[in-house]
Amino acid sequence: MSLVDVAIIGGGASGTTTAFHLANKSKNVCILEKNVSSLEKTCGGGMSAAVQNWFPFKLFPIVDEVITNVEFSWCNADKVVAELSGSSPFWIVKREKLDSFLLDQALNSGCNLLTTFNVVDIKKQSNIWQITALDGRQVEAKAVVIADGSQSPWSKTFNLGPTKQKFASTFSGRIKRRGNLRSKTARFEFGLVKNGFAWAFPLNNEVNIGMGTFLDNKNSIPVNEILKSFLPDLGFDPSEVIGNEKKLRVWNGHCKLNGEGILLVGDAASLCDPFLAEGLRPSLMSGFEAAKSLIYWLDGEVNCLDEYTKTMQSNWGNSMAWGKRISQVFYRFPKVGYQLGVKRPTAPKRIAQILSGEISYEDIAKRVIKRLLLQNQSSKS
Ligand SMILES: Cc1cc2nc3c(=O)[nH]c(=O)nc-3n(C[C@H](O)[C@H](O)[C@H](O)COP(=O)(O)OP(=O)(O)OC[C@H]3O[C@@H](n4cnc5c(N)ncnc54)[C@H](O)[C@@H]3O)c2cc1C
Repeated sequence: MSLVDVAIIGGGASGTTTAFHLANKSKNVCILEKNVSSLEKTCGGGMSAAVQNWFPFKLFPIVDEVITNVEFSWCNADKVVAELSGSSPFWIVKREKLDSFLLDQALNSGCNLLTTFNVVDIKKQSNIWQITALDGRQVEAKAVVIADGSQSPWSKTFNLGPTKQKFASTFSGRIKRRGNLRSKTARFEFGLVKNGFAWAFPLNNEVNIGMGTFLDNKNSIPVNEILKSFLPDLGFDPSEVIGNEKKLRVWNGHCKLNGEGILLVGDAASLCDPFLAEGLRPSLMSGFEAAKSLIYWLDGEVNCLDEYTKTMQSNWGNSMAWGKRISQVFYRFPKVGYQLGVKRPTAPKRIAQILSGEISYEDIAKRVIKRLLLQNQSSKS
């Protein structure tokens, strides 16, 4: 293959988004994907409708359910329901459908795709990147985008991303019927998973079930035990769910996401929310921002890839810094967190607003600090 402008390692949500935006501006792009097609993915598929902002085509046709209510519980009891207000609802999609839809958009815009291309080596020689697959195939590119997900080895190789990577232990599976999960309602259960939560997201006539534990990343998650307690409350037998466990790389500090001619996006860039495991919005945001910077860079603006790191820090990282602090306190003392956090009259609404992308953790932290300062002032006067 001749020299391409940009080679993208991985054809998931972040890689296909980057590819679409580059191809849409007539850049010569190639996605290198180790699998043949988008198989069922380990993902809850919940995402804010705010992601629509990054695409010129409608995502709505692939949305399986629009969530208008979020239900929280502690050990299946003590339930709280929050209504999602405003224009930014929360969508549930099937991940394989989202990924192949975005891939089709990229291909229709002129992007190339090489499947069964398992990248095992990336080298730079005389300003050209040489990417080699396990079967010996090679691609040469002016720039490379690392979009190969949570297990990506390349951030460490190129000294990018957080100094210390952090992982959540997760499980996700699907049940091919609806159970008693209410229509347009997403369920979050905080008492059954140590240092984390379980969820149930409706998808037309199916349900995505999952769980994640965020503080202790060494032990695997006791999936069967949790399913036995959680699923009967939703009208399911635990044997009905078929799913997979996965280590998910989460945000762990501000860091450099670009080098000269190389950018990290999505999970490979450790962008996933360390409190609620929201990784789709930052994957699509980083794909969009990475393409924007690369377009200028390919047109000769040599220092503009640094802008990508700066933009992701201000538009996502600053909120995640607060998300990490909230996660560390909440999951260490979850019962207190549930009573004081989730059961506070305004809290469910705030969590729902975070999920829908209306507000950030940073906004919440600023409100709390302001309230504390006002309380302090009035107690002094
Ligand atoms: C259990 C679970 C539930 C989740 N639920 C949600 C949710 O409800 N909402 C949400 O917003 N986020 C959720 N997330 C997070 C979300 O799934 C990720 O943030 C998102 O998948 C990241 O997309 P990506 O494109 O960066 O990586 P991926 O989707 O992992 O894609 C990486 C791609 O790279 C390919 N690849 C890997 N290695 C190579 C290689 N060597 N050569 C070539 N190709 C390669 C892979 O085959 C894959 O196609 C969840 C994650 C998990 C684990």
